[in-house]
Amino acid sequence: MARVRVESLRKEYDVGTVVAVDDLTLDIEDGEFVTVVGPSGCGKTTTLRMLAGLEEPTAGRIEIGDEDVTDVHAKNRDVAMVFQNYALYPHKTVFENMAFGLRMSTDLGADEREQRVVETAEMMDIESLLEDKPDELSGGQKQRVALGRAIVREPDLFLFDEPLSNLDAKLRTSMRAEIQRLQDELGITAVYVTHDQHEAMTMGDRIVILNDGELQQQGAPTAVYENPTNRFVGGFIGSPSMNFIEVTAEQVGNGVRLRGPGRSDETVTFNLSSEYVTANTVVLESSQFTLGIRPENVEIAGESAQNAIQAGVDVVEPVGSDNFLHLDVAPEFIARVASDVELAAGDEIAITFDESDLHLFDAESGRDVF
Ligand code: ATP
Repeated sequence: MARVRVESLRKEYDVGTVVAVDDLTLDIEDGEFVTVVGPSGCGKTTTLRMLAGLEEPTAGRIEIGDEDVTDVHAKNRDVAMVFQNYALYPHKTVFENMAFGLRMSTDLGADEREQRVVETAEMMDIESLLEDKPDELSGGQKQRVALGRAIVREPDLFLFDEPLSNLDAKLRTSMRAEIQRLQDELGITAVYVTHDQHEAMTMGDRIVILNDGELQQQGAPTAVYENPTNRFVGGFIGSPSMNFIEVTAEQVGNGVRLRGPGRSDETVTFNLSSEYVTANTVVLESSQFTLGIRPENVEIAGESAQNAIQAGVDVVEPVGSDNFLHLDVAPEFIARVASDVELAAGDEIAITFDESDLHLFDAESGRDVF
């Protein structure tokens, strides 16, 4: 296995009119499982293809292990890639598919090759499929074979390009667990691209978030969830998404009052205490902010509670253990409450939130301000 360094990586297409990846720097530790997530077109696949050597960077540098591989051809990089569409050879058996990569990349004898393929097939629970051709397999089995083919080569680096997207939800969950088991057992270094933030959060030791080709934030999934560095990350990570209200801030005594549009022509007011303002060294450099609050941090309050905001329930969406309440505050506002909270569409409630759960982003730059 190997550590990977990506330094100021850039990829332009169409003579510079499209910047798919812009100044990306990453340091991936030996044995680390890094998930890369972001909306469609943010540069995930391009990044992965540059790591694989399938795409030439416009600028920057890639190191795998101690080797600078920026100009090394794909076939000479010790990297295995697992694709969404499995990319198995249709006319070869499962055994031949797995052995083929091994023959290309190592000088093992036939007996050793066979032994490695059989051992890996056992690990992947596909030993009974070794003589089958890909079109005799289910989607989940094909993806197991594709994984097995990558594992058997014992590469320095595994690259996964949305490998579970073609599987149904149940199978996706079990394959996720399977990949995590392999990661634990084999200690593989991996870069795993997905557009599914839930997958990225649950699988990654570290999550890397891209938007418009640029790195937005990287870190442990919980750290990113709790401390998004900007509005984009706050909104992208977490489901349902963080609620946003555009507010104006003004100093009131030692505290800060935030005001923004509520439902119809009402105004939402939220007062930050002087203790909070001092503890968080809030400095009002500008007066326009975006207030962010996660659905699970919205509380149902008594009407006379401090910082109470009046809201009407538009829709109650039950999701098992919880209900999502769609409220008529701001353009879109969701509260996540326990399923035994008895509310129905049309009810009037008051909501509030703890100031320690708030996120405030600069309205212009989107940066987290404290
Ligand atoms: P998706 O989740 O939809 O696969 P992605 O995050 O993987 O998206 P990329 O495929 O890396 O994004 O594309 C990043 C940007 O580069 C997009 O604007 C895309 O249109 C552009 N792009 C990618 N490949 C090429 C190409 N061969 N020629 C021109 N533009 C390209």
